[in-house]
Amino acid sequence: MPAPHAESVFSRLEPLLPSVQKPIQYVGGELNATSKAWDEVSVRWALMYPDAYEVGQPNQGVQILYEVLNERDWIMAERTYSVWPDMEKMMRENGIPQFTVDNHRPVRAFDVLGVSFATELGYTNLLTALDLAGIPLHAVDRGEEDPVVIAGGHSAFNPEPVSDFVDAAVLGDGEEIVLAISEVIREWKDEGMPGLGGRTSRDELLYRLAVSGAVYVPKFYDVDYLPDGRIKRVAPNASGVPWRVHKHTLMDLDAWPYPKKPLVPLAETVHERFSVEIFRGCTRGCRFCQAGMITRPVRERSVNTIGDMVENGIRKSGFEEVGLLSLSSADHTEIGEVAKGLADRYDGSNVSLSLPSTRVDAFNITLANELSRNGRRSGLTFAPEGGSERMRRVINKMVTEEDLIRTVATAYSHGWRQVKLYFMCGLPTETDEDVLEIGELAKKVIAKGREVSGRRDIRCTVSIGGFVPKPHTPFQWAAQLDHETTDERLKKLRDMVRADKQYGRAIGFRYHDGRPGIIEGLLSRGDRRVGGIIEEVWRDGGRFDGWSEHFSFDRWVDASKRALADSPVDLDWYTVREREYSEVLPWDHLDSGLDRDWLWEDWQDAIDPDSTVEVEDCRWTPCYDCGVCPQMDTEIQIGPTGQKLLPLSVV
Ligand code: SF4
Repeated sequence: MPAPHAESVFSRLEPLLPSVQKPIQYVGGELNATSKAWDEVSVRWALMYPDAYEVGQPNQGVQILYEVLNERDWIMAERTYSVWPDMEKMMRENGIPQFTVDNHRPVRAFDVLGVSFATELGYTNLLTALDLAGIPLHAVDRGEEDPVVIAGGHSAFNPEPVSDFVDAAVLGDGEEIVLAISEVIREWKDEGMPGLGGRTSRDELLYRLAVSGAVYVPKFYDVDYLPDGRIKRVAPNASGVPWRVHKHTLMDLDAWPYPKKPLVPLAETVHERFSVEIFRGCTRGCRFCQAGMITRPVRERSVNTIGDMVENGIRKSGFEEVGLLSLSSADHTEIGEVAKGLADRYDGSNVSLSLPSTRVDAFNITLANELSRNGRRSGLTFAPEGGSERMRRVINKMVTEEDLIRTVATAYSHGWRQVKLYFMCGLPTETDEDVLEIGELAKKVIAKGREVSGRRDIRCTVSIGGFVPKPHTPFQWAAQLDHETTDERLKKLRDMVRADKQYGRAIGFRYHDGRPGIIEGLLSRGDRRVGGIIEEVWRDGGRFDGWSEHFSFDRWVDASKRALADSPVDLDWYTVREREYSEVLPWDHLDSGLDRDWLWEDWQDAIDPDSTVEVEDCRWTPCYDCGVCPQMDTEIQIGPTGQKLLPLSVV
């Protein structure tokens, strides 16, 4: 029997379900979900993805940790997602706390609430969940009865803006560290949850996590500021707590082939497929790309492990679509063998295979052709990112116009009708002309497509995102472009494309306004003072900020003014201001392994108009000393293994 505080709330929840949108998302019990008895385990995790079920359920990170934790008989993990505002209202009116979907247990009853942040725009949703759960919003107000709130995911590489609300943060791969944290908790519980050295019981647990060097606990670090608002220094305030906290790197991906039992959603979700991560990390050196920088070095899964994971995942889940995921999937050293082997294996079956195609070269088309043997040739996506060749040099994405045209010509001549090109606007040193070149490029793509296919129904969609400078990248010092200029620039581009009689109608144009990007910028590079803004926004009704229909820029602007009224800094200071080398950045004490001087030199190369420096991929060229491998005691793990995939007779 669970303790009374851990009993299911389902009997109170069920009567409310007919009155809310998409009630199925709150029901749980999906295929491959795990259910354990409360009293038979010693450590209990509630894992949260801070968005609605339809976005959070497919998240690979949460699914992997859910399985890794539940495989231990002494640990339990259940999942919780953000509830929509209609459900939030109902829960408040009926006194129902934030619950897990697996067994509808109150989140507050768990030992840990682990929250995975893929984007900073989920921060207000964390506050809703804490408040609904009855967990004090501020970490300093929590007691023995409250779970330890731990942030993970890419945004946790700068958790300072949410440091008021989380007890701890973990950087990097989660598989091993969640088990290490569980061990610390088990030991502390077995000892009777002591408080030692003048610390409370809760602080003792946090202290043990902090001194392990594996977990960042903000309360054990003091931040001092200079009169002008910049950070003076960040220093530990307890003995034994390390000055810098390191990221975690899982070195043998083949030994951790998760998810082994993919969760099959009950309600409609954004991705309904089984995804296999074919490698982790990226060393291509695109200067804007935080994911590439913080997940180094590259670690590949072998051909046989990928084949086994695909086969096992399909069998256990019934999914018919398989995505081969990574940051740049075509770069796997044996991707040709993987694609051909899987296409042969599933030829004539209902299984469809896909590769997020972003690399601009003809080889990518060969792969896409192979993988689409069983399916339609609908659309291909490439990401040149910068509109002009000059911009692509600045961001270290060395794709020539010739490469791009040649690649799309190959695509159109192989029967693909739709090409999507992804770009960014607002990159450092960008001018209007750089952005207008996106339109010129799209016109050339259509012209070439018509020429090689002999058809008029060729389409090219140009999708543009606003650039947001991110921590732990060479652009971490850059000034973000203000949203007014971003919008003007994109309007000029749109008008130019629409005015073109010959090609305009064949070019689709997708972009969002620049304002959410400014708030993402504030939350990405913010420091502890930004926590006050997040709280103001949340109290003012801010929810689901990643959704355009819920996002309010004015709410964020007003909250910034109020929260920073007595401070020398403001919203612009956090976003459109360039930083100097000497400035202490809010995340400097969090170690992603990247050498700060290497990042700075790369930033200088980016903005030097005479620089010809190209950072090539260290998978195939000598190490360029980014610092990660020596600092993290890791190394690149790539093939070729020479393995071949054999067709399975069962198919
Ligand atoms: S340290 Fe060298 S080998 Fe390792 S990721 Fe950086 S550049 Fe590549």
